[in-house]
Amino acid sequence: MIERNKCIANIKAGYLFPEIAKRRREYAAAHPGAKIISLGVGNTTEPILPHINAGLVEGARQLATAEGYSGYQDEGLLALREKISGVFYKNAFGPEEVFISDGAKCDIGRLQLLFGAGTPVAVQDPSYPVYVDGSVLIGAAGGWAGTGYQGITYLPCTAENNYFPDLEKLPSNSLFYFCSPNNPTGAVADRQQLEALVKAAVRKGVLIIFDAAYAEYIRDPALPKTIYEIEGAKTCAIEVNSFSKPAGFTGVRLGWTVVPKELKYAGGESVNADWARIAGTIFNGASNIAQAGGLAALDAEGLKEIRQLCDFYLGNAKLIRETLQNLGVSCVGGGNSPYIWARFPGRDSWDVFAEILDKCQVVTTPGSGFGPAGQSFVRFSAFGHRPDVEEACARLSRLNR
Ligand code: PLP
Repeated sequence: MIERNKCIANIKAGYLFPEIAKRRREYAAAHPGAKIISLGVGNTTEPILPHINAGLVEGARQLATAEGYSGYQDEGLLALREKISGVFYKNAFGPEEVFISDGAKCDIGRLQLLFGAGTPVAVQDPSYPVYVDGSVLIGAAGGWAGTGYQGITYLPCTAENNYFPDLEKLPSNSLFYFCSPNNPTGAVADRQQLEALVKAAVRKGVLIIFDAAYAEYIRDPALPKTIYEIEGAKTCAIEVNSFSKPAGFTGVRLGWTVVPKELKYAGGESVNADWARIAGTIFNGASNIAQAGGLAALDAEGLKEIRQLCDFYLGNAKLIRETLQNLGVSCVGGGNSPYIWARFPGRDSWDVFAEILDKCQVVTTPGSGFGPAGQSFVRFSAFGHRPDVEEACARLSRLNR
């Protein structure tokens, strides 16, 4: 029989979210009739707003017309690439530097093909699990202490360092995944921190994959929304982004990746040219209907709806954060991101998860699932219907008993 890809055996048993879903099912089976509320996964819950939705509908309608029909668009519709550059990057990029994807997660997985199996990888600890698992799948021996794997450097981001890693520990010539606003901590790197990051990356020959999937949740005007606000970033950073969380496109599937022309490998070859090659080779582009929706999302009316939707989830985040703080739980995030990172000193994350599920019938995400520095934390997600979030907050007071 054919052999299994050995890398698959190296990924940690059970991806975090299926494990949470399993525990939720087990609890529901043991407690029939319990109304479980999820503040766990980062899946959006609110309907797509009317103007953006009309863009999707119009995109579908056009496909049925001779003038409006379109087929493969490997790197994405030109109009959308230009619009993204204009709206998010002050036209700092040509359309050939903006690649439309079927979502940030998909591109995070594909980007690894650019660098190959032996590339050293570094991540913020805690971090979005796809950075580690995706790296392990492509052959970077990975995993964290306790699982026996080595090869991925975990840079702790804790209350002690204000959720920003010690850049002295960043390995030279590595790929560094950096997410801001951060999933799971909700922390947002400020300008000074990002300047230090870019400086360190340039000095050490590091390529940053900057995940800005939650940038539209930033409300503090002093906080950078993209790594390219920082001078020098075009020579050391790729940015991935998404319509999922700002426009409710988690199921529609649309994102983008910026690969600047200035970005070069050690040998001087163009990373941008290779990414275009990969996009044309194993990816045939995002849905044209989704892209029509993306175009509507980025005109004046669509941008208003994006703000409205993000404000709604930020309203949920505020309720959750205030509830936790009133209970004496210390937490970060929620002000410029849809996640609240709550600390339960001395406790195991899965035990806290189980206690909250048992006493409140509320599903959270255990912090240890995002990396060793997540131990003793749980993540609360602000993606939920308002009445559910209000009820979950009321039930959280049972934690005091
Ligand atoms: N990046 C981060 C940090 C995320 O939290 C998520 C989804 O939760 C994604 C990327 C995935 O985005 P997409 O839906 O565009 O694949």
